[in-house]
Amino acid sequence: MKYLKPKQHYIDRYDRHTVERCRWAENAVTDSNVQKHHKKKLAKEESERMTGAFNKLHLYFVQGEMYAKKEETISKWMSEDEEHDRFYEDTKAPSGIKCVVCNREMFVSHDHLETNLDKPDRVLFMYDCTLGHIPRRAFCDNGEEWKYKKPLCPKCQTPFEQIDKDTEKQFNTISTCPNCGHVEESKIPKTVGMEKEDPDFERDRARFCNEEEGMKYVEWMNTAKELTKVVEKIEEKEKNKDLYDKVANLKKLTVPQLKQHVVDSFNDEPYINLVFEQPNIERIVTIGFSIEDPTEQEEYDSRTKLSKFLKETLKETNWRLMSDGIDYRLGVLTGRLRCYEKEDDLVKLVYKKK
Ligand SMILES: [Zn+2]
Ligand SMILES: [Zn+2]
Repeated sequence: MKYLKPKQHYIDRYDRHTVERCRWAENAVTDSNVQKHHKKKLAKEESERMTGAFNKLHLYFVQGEMYAKKEETISKWMSEDEEHDRFYEDTKAPSGIKCVVCNREMFVSHDHLETNLDKPDRVLFMYDCTLGHIPRRAFCDNGEEWKYKKPLCPKCQTPFEQIDKDTEKQFNTISTCPNCGHVEESKIPKTVGMEKEDPDFERDRARFCNEEEGMKYVEWMNTAKELTKVVEKIEEKEKNKDLYDKVANLKKLTVPQLKQHVVDSFNDEPYINLVFEQPNIERIVTIGFSIEDPTEQEEYDSRTKLSKFLKETLKETNWRLMSDGIDYRLGVLTGRLRCYEKEDDLVKLVYKKK
């Protein structure tokens, strides 16, 4: 494994981000910002108090959000690095690369994984001739030859001649144009591998990367989300007042009340021998029934008529004929009724009717 490092490495990296962002958040608003947003001039004391309060709140959120995303981000980083490693291990060097001097097959003397956020990973392979001939050659894993291109003179587009004059503290490159004589000098300080000194880091890390506070924040945010849901629910009820009024006006019938209601409604009808089954008390409560149709009606007419009648009878109650409808055999009609108990279900029921 080349890319994947111990977990502590990622924790350190994340904590450095956190410290940076919190340091910024802590001082994000200045006195003059506050003054600018007030029409009346504030007393210095007052504006300082407001600035302090705002920054404290700002810091609270930034710090909390950083904690909330910590685990997820670290495991994302780790799996990205694992992915790089996998790519590197699975990549094979192009074969049959020949020395341009002696035409012998060259060998891979060095390889290098290049990772770039915007581009797919690639591996660069360096080839040497067994006899040490120059030039060495380099190929990407896709078989493309990699060639060093000299930078161009901005004045006449001729490739620069470059001389390195590095000093102990910086990389110095002098580029001279062989065509027009234009000269450029670049000086890059040698900081690679040297972390900038940050004497306050450990102190600030203890302040900003505090697990106990982070957990409190996450808990508080979850509570806040729950609260938002409750408020939304109340608002939704306000908005759909009609709907909820209708639900409130539905007759909520118990099983015996329902039976009585149905029996009563059949009083003036030609049906006979209404029988209810034992109610089925599960997640939803249902009750089967059978009734006889003594008329000469055909099956279809008999079923449709009863189903229409029951729909009308149950309209103002919290009971409905189940969607499997009514069966008919030899003048005996059977079906099931179901109860809507929960308010949410009742709302849907009324809404559907609309
Ligand atoms: Zn050779
Ligand atoms: Zn030039």
